[in-house]
Amino acid sequence: MKLSEFVGYGDKMEQLMRSVQAGRIVHALLFVGPHGSGKRTMARLFAQAMVCSAAQKPCGVCPACKRFLNGTHPDVKVLRPEKKTLGVEEIRDLIDALALRPYEGGRHIVMIEQAEKMSPSAQNALLKTLESPSGDAMFFLITDAPGGLLSTIVSRCQTVRFGDLSVEDCAGVLVSRGIEPGRAAQLAGMAQGSVGRALEIDADGDYLALRERVIASLEALKDAASVAGAAAGLEEDKGLEGSMLDIMELWARDLMAVQSGAKPYQSADAERLARCKIDGKALLKGVLLARMQLGSNVSWPNALENMYFNLIDTGKTGRTKLSWQR
Ligand SMILES: [Zn+2]
Repeated sequence: MKLSEFVGYGDKMEQLMRSVQAGRIVHALLFVGPHGSGKRTMARLFAQAMVCSAAQKPCGVCPACKRFLNGTHPDVKVLRPEKKTLGVEEIRDLIDALALRPYEGGRHIVMIEQAEKMSPSAQNALLKTLESPSGDAMFFLITDAPGGLLSTIVSRCQTVRFGDLSVEDCAGVLVSRGIEPGRAAQLAGMAQGSVGRALEIDADGDYLALRERVIASLEALKDAASVAGAAAGLEEDKGLEGSMLDIMELWARDLMAVQSGAKPYQSADAERLARCKIDGKALLKGVLLARMQLGSNVSWPNALENMYFNLIDTGKTGRTKLSWQR
């Protein structure tokens, strides 16, 4: 893949690469974005382009690219925290290694994944190196929780922000990875434009079946007499409460979209969403309340039936009766 082919960010990346090559940029880039937004893939592609010896970077076939891709390039250091924190010792080892001349005569490339896991003392140790790196080191810090970084670290980096793609762009990326277009569109909608999440759902054989059961349960909800039957299908699934509530939350957001005339994420289910009689906003509130109840040891069947009875009430009065003080 070329930088320019990175859907949604190609132009931005090409521009950034030109700045790096012209020496117009600080030597630390901070890639920030939610899980699955492509920031790590992009950072790796960018780092690979910096070691590549071809004119069209990254070529993927030159010796430097090959060493990068199989993790044996001597001038590329990747710190990937295995534990809860990345300690000061590991950063000191890194700094020592950077004092040596790069083997291939280019520059040292340092990638720190989950950079927020660096302990405060590790971050302070890194700070001096970020200010005045020995030689020509280039740093890539990658995080989905930038709040865990010291402001002094952030201010020394050029931040590159990643959001989720549009559902259409996300589907395009999935198709380019060999997923059939119809399925790609469906996965992209369920993942709300997150390529990483879409690939997770694709790989999880049970997710689609669970989703179908959750939506069928919501569709079976008609009146008070239907609550027990509708809930029965979901009450037995131990340990899947969180996933079921996530599925309901996305369904609620799409109901709200459809009910206000907007386009839902899950456009493949547009007709089904239009037929659903549940008020989207009430369902969203119900999901939030159920999460709180589960957190305070209410059993899942109780939380679920409670939510369903509230939804029936909402249907009758048009107003939600959920209480936040319970
Ligand atoms: Zn190359």
